Amino acid sequence: MSTLVPPHGSPSVKPLLLPETERAAERRRAEKLRRVPLDSRAVSDVLMLAMGAYTPLDGFMGYDDWRGSCQDMKLARGLFWPIPITLSVSKDLAGSIGAEEEVALVDAESGKILALMTAREKYSIDKRFEAEHVYRTADPKHPGVAKVLGQGEVNLAGPVRVIDEGDYVIKYPKLYIRPAESRAMFLDKGWSKVAAFQTRNPMHRSHEYLVKIAVEVMDGVFIHQVLGKLKEGDIPAEVRTRAIQAMIDNYFRPGTVIQAGYPIEMRYAGPREALLHALIRQNFGCSHLIVGRDHAGVGSYYGPFDAHRIFDELWEGALVTQPLKIDVTFYCRKCYGMATARTCPHDSKFHISISGTQQREMLSTDADIPPEFSRPEVVEILREYYASLKTPSRHLAS
Ligand SMILES: [Zn+2]
Repeated sequence: MSTLVPPHGSPSVKPLLLPETERAAERRRAEKLRRVPLDSRAVSDVLMLAMGAYTPLDGFMGYDDWRGSCQDMKLARGLFWPIPITLSVSKDLAGSIGAEEEVALVDAESGKILALMTAREKYSIDKRFEAEHVYRTADPKHPGVAKVLGQGEVNLAGPVRVIDEGDYVIKYPKLYIRPAESRAMFLDKGWSKVAAFQTRNPMHRSHEYLVKIAVEVMDGVFIHQVLGKLKEGDIPAEVRTRAIQAMIDNYFRPGTVIQAGYPIEMRYAGPREALLHALIRQNFGCSHLIVGRDHAGVGSYYGPFDAHRIFDELWEGALVTQPLKIDVTFYCRKCYGMATARTCPHDSKFHISISGTQQREMLSTDADIPPEFSRPEVVEILREYYASLKTPSRHLAS
């Protein structure tokens, strides 16, 4: 008997990637079909469906699921789902696609055919409605909202069959762990209480401390990072994975954490996205999700603990995976150690905190980054990256 949390709304994970033996024949068929171009968010969603991270979805959502997901965080059949997973196309392309027509889903950037989809439904959406419900704002400056407002006029829905897992699996073969695989790894280690740590940044000591709090009370921690598209100025995944590994190798006991990556593209939807992150982690077999300050937020659109509170508003049974809510973490000069806003009684003037912008400045000059803020092994890797940005030829060569 598995001691892990069950997948969301399904007795087993549902990867939509076809078995290898069927892919070549399907690819030949797909080459003759009408092509539907996918933007980076849709590519990421196809890859998430392929690996089973969006279990139990069988493809892109139709109108009823879209509306229910926006308004009530529920699919039409009542199952919890906090952010709609939809595919948009232009009016012209939608008009040329017939009922039940099978189409080829193509990565617009690489030109690769990733999947086949049967077009069951075409519908228009009120984009403002989606933005206000999911993102709590219709401000076009919000990067997730901008994507929704800028997407095609018609949504196309239907079951998806994936024939290509894209490039992440080639680029990060060891990190690209699918839900069925993480579940097998956890069982193999005898873990049942597993916390996921979501990250899109290199880990400094405040992040290390969040993970260590979880290590103390869980069987293990799944350090799970975003391989999908990020905001301008974010550290690229190949640099970040090395920085995280340096921290794990030097500051964690072997066998307490697993580093992995997954192909999600951030929507920066704050609290709603925290819920989606928990749902996805349930599929990966994690019983808990570490939720720190301003989880999946951007700018000042969300309060620092909105993502904590939203879990309390869910109905019974919406999610099995639970949040591990942790307050702001930092090094305190008076405590002489890492602390949180919940444990440290001292004034914030004793706390070491360096903003993202300050870090970038300090890393691109020779300014010292205090060891209380970041581990030297991590700083070294980040400095090397910032130095490479200044010498374009070296950057291109790497
Ligand atoms: Zn203190």
